[in-house]
Amino acid sequence: MELGRLGSRLIVDLSLFKENVKLLKDHFPDQQVLFMVKADAYGHGILEMVEFSIEECGIKEFGVASLSEALALRKSLPEKEFELYVFSDQGLSLKENHELYHQKRIFPVITKWSDLLVFCETPSLKGGPLCLKFNTGMNRLGIDFDAAEEVVSYLKSKGIKEIHHLMSHFANASLSMEKNNRNLWQRERFKELKVSLIGAGLNIRNSSMGNSGALEQGIGAEETHIRPGLMLYGPSSMAPKNKDKTFWNGKIISRLETTILSLRNIKKGDPIGYGSVACPDSGLLAIIAIGYGDGIGTRFSGAHLTHRGIEGQIVGRVCMDMTFVLFPEGTDLKEEESFTIWGSDPVFFGKFSQETGTVPYELVIGLTTRVPRIYQIN
Ligand SMILES: *Cc1c(COP(=O)(O)O)cnc(C)c1O
Repeated sequence: MELGRLGSRLIVDLSLFKENVKLLKDHFPDQQVLFMVKADAYGHGILEMVEFSIEECGIKEFGVASLSEALALRKSLPEKEFELYVFSDQGLSLKENHELYHQKRIFPVITKWSDLLVFCETPSLKGGPLCLKFNTGMNRLGIDFDAAEEVVSYLKSKGIKEIHHLMSHFANASLSMEKNNRNLWQRERFKELKVSLIGAGLNIRNSSMGNSGALEQGIGAEETHIRPGLMLYGPSSMAPKNKDKTFWNGKIISRLETTILSLRNIKKGDPIGYGSVACPDSGLLAIIAIGYGDGIGTRFSGAHLTHRGIEGQIVGRVCMDMTFVLFPEGTDLKEEESFTIWGSDPVFFGKFSQETGTVPYELVIGLTTRVPRIYQIN
């Protein structure tokens, strides 16, 4: 597709997203997908991703981090039917938020005692489904595993007989799910938790624990739901040394493109850009139209990029609107030609993330609103 001169742009290929969903569903045919779309769908645009997920991929449940993310999503898709969970910043200490959860059909995931008390004491909340997240060893959010008995008696005293969705979260899913002791321990505790809650007479309608790293290793089929985020956008969340443990070969659904503004022949040691950084080699210097104003930070210096099969390296200091990429002398490049920073190749994406000192999660999320998101369906 010819996009003309739009400046730097992130092209989100929804057909690749659909393929990723299918690949995941092939491995988890019996699980419902609770798709994590916090942080503007990991930078891809929450409205478009949710709408497409509902209409084309049969996904009906979504997770965000804050009530404000949830409200914004409900507001932009008022006609669509889907379930929406708020995972971390629920704001339940504020009375005015309680009605919002009720009116907008948003589920707060309860992760601490104070919120559980509010939930049970507030009729509008208590009338809705109870989603409870336990801490099985990550020590981030979650009601402590050891408090399970106390939770049971409290719920019983309040006449609550069902947990709509029981959850926990892995701290080390990027490591082996079969060998890493902390993963084994968390899995074991979640199993124990379910047994003891059910044993105490509570009905557990739904449960989930698997985030991308676990799902990529085939772990998660013992629950009703899976909670993928990163993997559906393409990247693997496995640590590089554990890449052999994953079946995942999703495609990166985004392509970051910019333009070569100008070309300049350069000699080794010549000063370039701010700070007059000495160019590490002789070659052809491409000045591309993207910089830290777009989210390509100064730490990206040194990373390698491939343009039309030719490898170049980011050199000098990244500026707000421009970045230098050094190519071998005599490389056939043209001013004003389109330049792809990353495309659908997950191997390049993983390497680029490593070289830029980021985790794959950060790359798309880090792009600023100056970079328009453009949606494509093949
Ligand atoms: C973000 C998040 C996920 C998804 O994590 P990924 O590693 O992106 O798959 C799942 N569960 C919870 C509670 C989360 O916050």
